[in-house]
Amino acid sequence: MAERFVCSVCDLTEDRCLCEKYCGLCQGLHNVRLCNDGLYYCLDCREACDLQAQEAESHG
Ligand SMILES: [Zn+2]
Ligand SMILES: [Zn+2]
Repeated sequence: MAERFVCSVCDLTEDRCLCEKYCGLCQGLHNVRLCNDGLYYCLDCREACDLQAQEAESHG
């Protein structure tokens, strides 16, 4: 079962969160995903900081 990260602002999961999603590091808007600290990060920052994004619910 995938771990469910929740937004640090609204305490909802990524698919329910209605907050404005921008990168917590660079404020970028491109490809931001919720990570395990409850903040959103863009792809570049996730790779740079080795952050784990919420896994997509693809199967099951
Ligand atoms: Zn939120
Ligand atoms: Zn960023």
